[in-house]
Amino acid sequence: MIKEKIEIVKGDITKIEVDAIVNAANSSLLGGGGVDGAIHRAAGKELLHECRLLHGCKTGEAKITKGYNLPAKFVIHTVGPVWNGGTHNESVLLEKCFSNSLTLAVKNNCRSVAFPAISTGIYRYPFEQATEIAIKTTVEFLKQNNFPEKVIFICFSEEMFNIYKKTLDELL
Ligand code: ADP
Repeated sequence: MIKEKIEIVKGDITKIEVDAIVNAANSSLLGGGGVDGAIHRAAGKELLHECRLLHGCKTGEAKITKGYNLPAKFVIHTVGPVWNGGTHNESVLLEKCFSNSLTLAVKNNCRSVAFPAISTGIYRYPFEQATEIAIKTTVEFLKQNNFPEKVIFICFSEEMFNIYKKTLDELL
């Protein structure tokens, strides 16, 4: 049941047609490198205008905007923890990114949500550990909530895709 609601896709999150894509933003919400830069480029400058009105976002929290020129209706901006050895509450903060993003998606009637691998780029979170948190937190959420109907994890490389598949098979 839950497994049917989770999909792992290799691709570019800016091209995905879902109700909401999640952005691995930084706390300013004013754009950055990696997936954040790609989302802002694809959405157009109106996204930055709306983000300016939000006055930033704390690590582990999430805020929502429209998707503008993206195929997605909404962008949920969440700020992942910077990896700092694993003893600075990183895992709890990363869990919060997923649970708060999903909660915000449900509040906005989003039936489908796509996540990138939050914190695993510039923020250096070890990939396998981050993947386990992403999937475990999502599974827990889906056990307790009827929505969203579909959660898609977007993998930017074949290697990421394989680790996500393996982790999902191990956990479910
Ligand atoms: P963070 O600062 O949270 O680490 P990054 O943007 O540096 O965020 O990286 C997060 C993940 O997003 C990385 O695993 C990276 O490979 C991936 N990524 C980068 N661009 C895209 C994209 N266009 N679509 C999906 N994933 C992407």
